[in-house]
Amino acid sequence: MRFNALRILREGLTGNKGWGPHWRDPEPKPAYDIVIIGGGGHGLATAFYLAQQHGITNVAVLEKGYIGGGNVGRNTTIVRANYFLPGNSEFYSHSLKLWERMEDDLNYNVMHSQRGIINLFHSDGQRDAAVRRGNAMINQGDDAILLGREELRKMLPYLDHDNGRFPIHGGLYHPRGGTARHDAVAWGFARGASDRGVDIIQNCEVTGIDREGGRVTGVQTTRGAIRARKVAIVTAGRSGQVAALAGLRLPIESHILQAFVTEGLKPVIDNVVTFGMGHFYISQSDKGGLVFGGDLDFYPSYAQRGNLPTVEHVMEAGMTLMPMIGRAKMLRSWGGIMDMTPDGSPIIDRAPIEGLYLDCGWCYGGFKAVPGSGFALAHLLATDRYHDSATGFRLDRFLTGRGIMDEEGKGAQHNLH
Ligand SMILES: Cc1cc2nc3c(=O)[nH]c(=O)nc-3n(C[C@H](O)[C@H](O)[C@H](O)COP(=O)(O)OP(=O)(O)OC[C@H]3O[C@@H](n4cnc5c(N)ncnc54)[C@H](O)[C@@H]3O)c2cc1C
Repeated sequence: MRFNALRILREGLTGNKGWGPHWRDPEPKPAYDIVIIGGGGHGLATAFYLAQQHGITNVAVLEKGYIGGGNVGRNTTIVRANYFLPGNSEFYSHSLKLWERMEDDLNYNVMHSQRGIINLFHSDGQRDAAVRRGNAMINQGDDAILLGREELRKMLPYLDHDNGRFPIHGGLYHPRGGTARHDAVAWGFARGASDRGVDIIQNCEVTGIDREGGRVTGVQTTRGAIRARKVAIVTAGRSGQVAALAGLRLPIESHILQAFVTEGLKPVIDNVVTFGMGHFYISQSDKGGLVFGGDLDFYPSYAQRGNLPTVEHVMEAGMTLMPMIGRAKMLRSWGGIMDMTPDGSPIIDRAPIEGLYLDCGWCYGGFKAVPGSGFALAHLLATDRYHDSATGFRLDRFLTGRGIMDEEGKGAQHNLH
């Protein structure tokens, strides 16, 4: 089923009765070439690129719940390529290029909106850091513009620019950054993979990882055993638990990240604005809700909900930055489970067990990475070589200390992220 303007018009005029399911609902087969554990954004994108780039379609994505029920449908949808460190920088740059052609690749409207992201700064030191980051982004071939105090006043009139504690000195503007409709991304990749022959199997929890003679031979699931030549663990916040099924202990802690949305308002915020000093960021959804969030809840947990001290902190930060937000009614809040690595950078690598692969450690920034990660993991699964955009995401950096990419500049401590 292809989407096009004529089809949408016809369906609109005939009661939308002609649409079929977006992906098949097959029974699991006894064996596949590749099994991907986790039907989030990364697992589905991997399946899609395996089929699209490498012609490998004897693949199953096993999802314990439903497609889009994990973090891919819980995030605040920000997509950007404004990373600083070599290793991360080229990866996110590649990922953003894949975003820019995603709707054509998938024939699916993911509502990718390059409305621009502005990272605010509040001191001379922060300004220097913003200039350095902007130069790194430009060197990478991406876009960055330094905005001064007065330009920002005009551009974002609703902020408290003269705040006593955090007066706004300027911002680093990344015009190609923006947002996308998160669950449409999951649906689009699921549909694209399924159309090419990949089996997407929902309500299928992996409960064991089979090994023989030091290599992986398949998985045990709530819907029976499935053999596979290669198995990829792509389970975000559950990565530590799933890797433990193969006897592995990953350098990952799972933490909660919360987000919030208000009632729908008329358009008021045109861009994405981040207030790093206050641990707060905000954008406005196409329905009009102000979508915002802050930092982690700062204790390890597998609960998909957060605690009130963080709610209070985020609301205070929001009121500090833009007092008008106090007039909006909060509609709901939710939480997701973040797979935090010690250096804040991800892992796309072979595990130390033959036939087992890892894609995890996306911390709180893995939505923007969905296409880049799927592309790079598909490349690794298909060729057993690292893709050029993802050569730095080695697991052994945490063992040897070589190649640590401390993107957050906070050292190797999860709870300081
Ligand atoms: C509140 C919040 C805000 C965020 N904001 C942003 C943002 O603005 N920009 C950004 O880039 N990133 C953001 N993120 C991070 C981003 O959402 C995640 O890093 C990313 O979605 C994780 O990858 P995924 O989509 O594959 O994860 P998921 O969607 O969580 O996929 C993993 C899947 O694995 C499944 N699974 C787990 N165990 C098993 C098992 N045993 N068997 C079978 N399946 C299993 C789970 O059910 C789940 O569906 C945010 C996250 C949250 C929670």
